[in-house]
Amino acid sequence: MLVGCSTGGSGPSTPEAPAQPEPEPEPEPAPAPEPEPAPEEPPAQREPTEPLKKKDPLAAYVSETPRCLAEAGRCFSIALHLTMPDGAPVQSVDWVSGQVRQANRLFAPIDVSVQVDSVDALPDEVQEIDDRAARDALGRERFSRGVLHVFVTPRLADVDIAGAEIRGVHWRYRPDTKRRWIILSKIASDLVLSHEMGHFFGLPHSRYEVSLMNKSPRDDPPWSERRFADPELARMRKHRDQMVRSGMLINRKAAKAATTAVSPARG
Ligand SMILES: [Zn+2]
Repeated sequence: MLVGCSTGGSGPSTPEAPAQPEPEPEPEPAPAPEPEPAPEEPPAQREPTEPLKKKDPLAAYVSETPRCLAEAGRCFSIALHLTMPDGAPVQSVDWVSGQVRQANRLFAPIDVSVQVDSVDALPDEVQEIDDRAARDALGRERFSRGVLHVFVTPRLADVDIAGAEIRGVHWRYRPDTKRRWIILSKIASDLVLSHEMGHFFGLPHSRYEVSLMNKSPRDDPPWSERRFADPELARMRKHRDQMVRSGMLINRKAAKAATTAVSPARG
């Protein structure tokens, strides 16, 4: 099982970019098809007596997905952008929850948690992400600093191998590589967001046996025991602090504390 891919834009490195050169973009063929049936949503149960309330069908992606861990000192917001194949969200609330839960477990050692704080439906014409231009276009009008933008698509093409697809990518917008976001394919297993966040926090692929940034196929350790290696955690702490200082990510907990702290002093 492969986790994801880091073949970001090919632009110059940014202050957040790893000091060492990015590894060669590796072709990341889609693994043997692991047919993931589209989540079967039970038909909406409607109370016939109740007047049809206009309920936002996407609200559950915020209200029912895991929140930042209480013990984490840093809480960053995810802005979730969902494609809507056939008019329905490309992936389920459970699937998003799995991605967030794993991220909060794996980033706990660096005191980082994430939660979905906003969600929107991408326009119908945005579906499969076939090439670099499509990856750029996703965030061109939607990127903003301060939060982690995550897009979910029914299919994410490998831009290096014709016909192949990948599960996720940390993408740098080519005209301005300081702008970057994560794209997940709906076929992604639940560690892919964490892997791409590893790139977002400055990591290249690695060869640590234990690491989820090591893409070489192996059975040991099992997926359930993979995590970030200690040197990777150290590196991510630095990038985390840089991103908070620059405003690339806003710590919701610090923002809240600051608000409470400004109660006017009297006397
Ligand atoms: Zn990768």
